[in-house]
Amino acid sequence: MERAFRGLSMSQASFASTEGIDFATRQEIGFHCDSGHIYTRTFSDEIVPPTEWDCPRCGTLSKRTDGTVGEEKPVTRRRSHWDMLRERRSMEELQQLLTERLAEIRAIHEAAEEI
Ligand SMILES: [Zn+2]
Repeated sequence: MERAFRGLSMSQASFASTEGIDFATRQEIGFHCDSGHIYTRTFSDEIVPPTEWDCPRCGTLSKRTDGTVGEEKPVTRRRSHWDMLRERRSMEELQQLLTERLAEIRAIHEAAEEI
């Protein structure tokens, strides 16, 4: 009986050690792009939220709705694969590619089901 209780208290201790992680405070930051799209992004309260964000709808650089701007220093923004892709393809083209790929995948699945 005593042994069983000991096991229980150990599992309770491990729960206690993770306490607080789920309660990290968050901040919601509003952004707006040149095309007039307004949206919010949630960040951990422990970081300084970015002053610019790529619009999820049209991809243009958005500014903070609260007017906060970044420091005037040359920002050497690392180009991601996505950035390079966006320079060569429009959002419409990417959507078309995605639609085609999904259709292909669906066709493969349907063919597999027929066998
Ligand atoms: Zn936009």
